Amino acid sequence: MDAMEKAKNIILSRKVVRAVLWLAGVLAIVAVVGVLVFSGGRTDSGDTDLVSDNTTVVQVAAGDTLSKILADKGFSGADINKIADILKTKANITGLRADKDKIEFTRDGGPDTPITKITLLPGPWRRVELTCDDGGVWNCNAIDIERDTRLVYRQGEILDGDSFYLAGMRADIPAGILADVYDLLAFEMDFERDVRAGQKFSVVFEENYSNNKKIDNGSVIAVSFDALRGNVKMYRYRKSDKIVGYYDPDGNGAIKSLKRTPINNAKVTSSFSTRRKHPVLGFTRAHKGVDFRASTGTPIPAAGAGRVVARGFNRGHGNFVKIRHNKTFETLYAHMSKFAKNVNVGTAVRQGQTIGYVGSTGLSTGPHLHYEVIKDGKHVNPLTVKLPAIDNLDATNKKKFLEYRKTLDKAIEELVKNPKLFIQM
Ligand SMILES: [Zn+2]
Repeated sequence: MDAMEKAKNIILSRKVVRAVLWLAGVLAIVAVVGVLVFSGGRTDSGDTDLVSDNTTVVQVAAGDTLSKILADKGFSGADINKIADILKTKANITGLRADKDKIEFTRDGGPDTPITKITLLPGPWRRVELTCDDGGVWNCNAIDIERDTRLVYRQGEILDGDSFYLAGMRADIPAGILADVYDLLAFEMDFERDVRAGQKFSVVFEENYSNNKKIDNGSVIAVSFDALRGNVKMYRYRKSDKIVGYYDPDGNGAIKSLKRTPINNAKVTSSFSTRRKHPVLGFTRAHKGVDFRASTGTPIPAAGAGRVVARGFNRGHGNFVKIRHNKTFETLYAHMSKFAKNVNVGTAVRQGQTIGYVGSTGLSTGPHLHYEVIKDGKHVNPLTVKLPAIDNLDATNKKKFLEYRKTLDKAIEELVKNPKLFIQM
């Protein structure tokens, strides 16, 4: 039995087909036709346009306008206006994009016959056809080209001295998909400092085909990364309101952010201000954070995943911990009575992990948490700074998500066994 036959047998086992059918039902995109065996080398997108005797193609270049291109083709000013108008009203096209859009001109017959069809190709998934009837009236028809979307699986491993980017390229993950993974995991890990040899990762993403030819990549559907603080998994999911988000295996919003209030429900006793009278020092100075009332010994959770970059004592902050979350954000927690065990400079922490306990060390009038958010090196108000939203699912969506996730996991298991297979949506 050759590899292909073997693959067919694996993937066509009834259980998997059922799982994949079910999966597509949940995704409700297009009816599933089953799981196909990947049948050869991948092809890149390119110029697919067949140019017949009667059809010529113009690639829009920098400086080109619709008027200029049409005038070059011999259209009158009146016709150009009519065509521009119909494109705007019927296809919402108001301009051309250099190096992206193409225009096909089709003549009735030989080179001296009039152009009766103009086809705009704004990207690979749309055609806008303008046809001229016998009376000289232009009609517009915008067609969305059906995508054949396949979910493919890639896995990789960080090697000694590697970066995630290099490991990802080696695993045959396209650069655009890698960039999306970076963004998805930005609050989970620091790709400059948290990458270690031996860490494994996998990505399931969409490849869009048309006529069996790969045109482009779609979205990241699932990602798994063995981060320092544990395995991180995320799944893309479309909620009943059609809004798409990424969720962890339990259905919690996976795009982590920072919690504005690290200790749940703690009352603000002093807000962020650039000028306030300091309760201990007595003179006016900025309050670069927010104070939350809490009793001594209350655990202080990390506001977001990150790496501890400072842990120590100073006269103002008392015992404090500072965490770097990503390139942009750091948080600082002050006046701790004590630090959590195993939280040292360099420790990677999860969101919600206890990093210390409330106290009144340093310049403090009583037990509270003083919390600072530092954005690009500048102190900002934790309660108002713009942060990525944490998007949690409601009960109904969560239930659906969990069913979907189990089915997707099952399909992924098959892809793990044979990475050359794909799931056809
Ligand atoms: Zn304070």
